[in-house]
Amino acid sequence: MPVVFPWEKRELEKIAAEIGVKLHFKPLQAFIDRNGVCAITLYRWEIQGFCPFFDKASKRCSIHDDKPLACRMYPLLIEMPSGNLMASGKCDWIKQQGPRFIRQLSTKPETIPEVFPAEFEAAKKAFIEFTTINSFIERHGLQPINVNKLNNCNEVFDIDDYMARFD
Ligand code: SF4
Repeated sequence: MPVVFPWEKRELEKIAAEIGVKLHFKPLQAFIDRNGVCAITLYRWEIQGFCPFFDKASKRCSIHDDKPLACRMYPLLIEMPSGNLMASGKCDWIKQQGPRFIRQLSTKPETIPEVFPAEFEAAKKAFIEFTTINSFIERHGLQPINVNKLNNCNEVFDIDDYMARFD
């Protein structure tokens, strides 16, 4: 269940529409301004069973160049808002490397960029996107809102569309 930025959600929906697949997303994090206008910052991509972009024959992702940052950085995970970087203990490849390797990743996190260079770059990019959004939210005084109460908003935007109104 990857967590994706709104523009990634829209891109995935576009690609999925081209192959006649429907994807399911749920807002994960949202904010409200003093005019009752809401902005969704993150979505959870709800994947039932295999991801529709997983090519079972080749056992590879069929949208490698377009996959979201959460997929690009896996098995790395970022704890928000601290920005702490972790490697997922659920990753089969990591498990196969054995307990010594796992201990090394947790006791020497500075080795993570060497072990996972491409994934680390993706994680860095996601962190930068996240902090850019967060600083906008702080600057504009938006407050967190329960995503189950988005129906109460006067209008609902994806955060990038909301931010574009201030350009
Ligand atoms: S890496 Fe590709 S196949 Fe795997 S979840 Fe992401 S988009 Fe789907």
